Amino acid sequence: MLEKVVIANRGEIALRILRACRELGIKTVAVHSTVDRDLMHVRLADESVCIGPGPSPKSYLNGPAIISAAEVTDAVAIHPGYGFLAENADFAEQVEKSGFVFIGPTPDVIRLMGDKVSAIAAMKKAGVPTVPGSDGPITEDQEHTLKVARKIGYPVIIKAAAGGGGRGMRVVHSEAALLNGVYVTQSEAKAAFGDDTVYLEKFLENPRHVEIQILADGQGHAIALGDRDCSLQRRHQKVLEEAPAPGIPDKIRAEVAKSCVDACVSIGYRGAGTFEFLYENDRFYFIEMNTRVQVEHPVTEMVTGIDIIKQQLRIASGEKLTIKQEDVKIHGHSFECRINAEDPKTFVPCPGKVTHFHAPGGPGVRVDSHLYSGYTVPPNYDSMIAKIITYGDTREEALNRMRQALDELVVEGIRTNQNLQRDLVRDAGFRKGGVNIHYLENKLKA
Ligand code: ADP
Repeated sequence: MLEKVVIANRGEIALRILRACRELGIKTVAVHSTVDRDLMHVRLADESVCIGPGPSPKSYLNGPAIISAAEVTDAVAIHPGYGFLAENADFAEQVEKSGFVFIGPTPDVIRLMGDKVSAIAAMKKAGVPTVPGSDGPITEDQEHTLKVARKIGYPVIIKAAAGGGGRGMRVVHSEAALLNGVYVTQSEAKAAFGDDTVYLEKFLENPRHVEIQILADGQGHAIALGDRDCSLQRRHQKVLEEAPAPGIPDKIRAEVAKSCVDACVSIGYRGAGTFEFLYENDRFYFIEMNTRVQVEHPVTEMVTGIDIIKQQLRIASGEKLTIKQEDVKIHGHSFECRINAEDPKTFVPCPGKVTHFHAPGGPGVRVDSHLYSGYTVPPNYDSMIAKIITYGDTREEALNRMRQALDELVVEGIRTNQNLQRDLVRDAGFRKGGVNIHYLENKLKA
């Protein structure tokens, strides 16, 4: 097993990784910025190293500083968490070149899946269902572009190969707007990502967001840990997630999971990963893969009983995955509500001092949070401050437990989206299950 791990992240996920390390007897090094000295996991870690000032480009995105911290503390591996450098192939490469283990896939695989055009091509080849599209980048041949779009059928979405975070996309409803749309998206992509490659996809009008969690050991064995529904989104940011995705026929569920497992084996995937799909009219359409642990991983842990972070650590230490696909059983149902420090009306981040924090409890309730009374949420980072996770034998039980947990939660001193979450778990449409990705925004508009 790895002896000592650098946790190259902050907040709740850093604490989550620290807890998993402790369970496995792994020593931990917290790296943090100057404004993050009071983070819970920094206090709990065996060692800590300040890697730079508050702005993340100077600290959590500063690869050389993180690698230096690993060197001076004699660590053997680096866990990137999510966000920051987690999907940066160059960083993963530097980590390996410096003699450390990067807890994630190989740099080549991160690169392959980080470019959406190459990712889609690889998935198609492996038998994963994809969105009908241009099968590769748009070329300078405008006649050909028009022909491809006509074949796909309008509306189409123009997407940047290097896009991410909901940026670099444009929906076009008619042929008259296509070529200009391509031109504008290319210019934006060039400016934002330094790469003007764009491609076309059929624009699905009312899909759900359903994703498959996988684990692979990079030694020929991979398994799927079922699916999650993350359709409740605002500006492409997930707000509330659940596992399993409700109302999907078991046969369709199993088929897509199998295709993801096969794809992992065929690309030599290592570690935890997520295949993201749009789901419409009983069909799955691959959109992208996240080559890291995700915020919403706990709902899968709750229904499978498998600790995803511990599995990441085991795989990174070179162990083979011992869990077989037939050992993965989905029991009950789980929800996760993201609690953000933000204004409930404008959604503008609201950092500041938490004067009082009280976490909910009781059967089937899990809280992943770095908050404590007296902690000050800094303005520099993502506004998520807690994840409330519930479990129940049935979807209804898990949802009722969430309702109670959200009522018990107390965060004073800063504004949060707690009341929005309390509304959502009482919403009749959501309680029924299977709402699409526009549901939350439509509700907010109303
Ligand atoms: P990013 O990497 O920026 O998150 P994704 O490819 O994951 O981009 O797409 C983000 C979101 O954009 C999806 O969750 C969905 O809401 C919307 N989207 C992407 N592709 C399509 C499509 N073909 N049809 C409809 N909506 C889409």
